[in-house]
Amino acid sequence: VSFVERIRGAAARTLGRAARVLEIRSISPHVVRLRVQGAAVRRLVFAPGDKIKLHVGDGQLRSFTPTAVDPSAGVFEIVVHVHGDSPTARWLAARQADDEVRFLGPASSVQGPRAPLPWAAFYGDETTIGLAEALAAALADGTPWLGAIETRPEDAIAVAHLSLRSVVRTESHGPGLVAHLQGATLPPGPGVVWLSGEASSVLALRESALARGIPRDRLCIKPYWSLAGTAHRKRLERTTLRA
Ligand SMILES: Cc1cc2nc3c(=O)[nH]c(=O)nc-3n(C[C@H](O)[C@H](O)[C@H](O)COP(=O)(O)OP(=O)(O)OC[C@H]3O[C@@H](n4cnc5c(N)ncnc54)[C@H](O)[C@@H]3O)c2cc1C
Repeated sequence: VSFVERIRGAAARTLGRAARVLEIRSISPHVVRLRVQGAAVRRLVFAPGDKIKLHVGDGQLRSFTPTAVDPSAGVFEIVVHVHGDSPTARWLAARQADDEVRFLGPASSVQGPRAPLPWAAFYGDETTIGLAEALAAALADGTPWLGAIETRPEDAIAVAHLSLRSVVRTESHGPGLVAHLQGATLPPGPGVVWLSGEASSVLALRESALARGIPRDRLCIKPYWSLAGTAHRKRLERTTLRA
């Protein structure tokens, strides 16, 4: 844990907003929906695509995307991909209703739809289920919404409620999503395509979208994590993915 992370963690413990676990529910073997409630949530100003930073113990903060925030009920919800024996996985496994949750934010991250769109598309993985829900809710009623979310076979059930195609991961992250994008029938007009999830997959999707003739300014790109680690994700974000 770096010095900066320790400082952030101390800030989360002392300055972060406090709320309580309202509900914690597995929606598939590796996907958990966490609902949080507290007076602090009533004061939040949230835009679809914003992130929060959750304190997952030992001063560690991790980014998550509220699916929705209901200030009147003081409730927000996130959908977490639980992988391996990570700090988030350990923290979630130990949580139960009424436990304290501390978080920072929300802060802006992914730009949601600014105006009514002729169509919108979304490509992502298990970490982007919350983002897909937030964006879908922000689209004007009736906006055509297409695309796919890639999961392990046993987690496909976690995306069944979204009107996006479920792509089952076979060997590596990304190829199934790229194949879907290459074959997708895109409605006419200047639609917007959101690309998120694993960083190298996002890079491959960006290439594929550009090759299909979708202009760069109609791609909203946000890698959420990288198989090659956080430094790799941040480097790609600063360089190739920005272009
Ligand atoms: C703006 C933003 C919003 C995000 N919103 C969400 C969200 O709503 N839901 C969500 O589930 N995630 C979301 N993420 C991704 C999440 O923050 C990372 O996956 C984070 O690393 C998870 O923390 P951890 O403690 O589980 O693993 P870490 O300890 O941070 O990761 C350890 C290693 O595991 C690998 N790893 C990280 N994440 C995954 C993964 N998902 N699958 C497989 N291997 C992984 C990496 O190689 C990493 O180096 C978001 C990320 C960003 C930047």
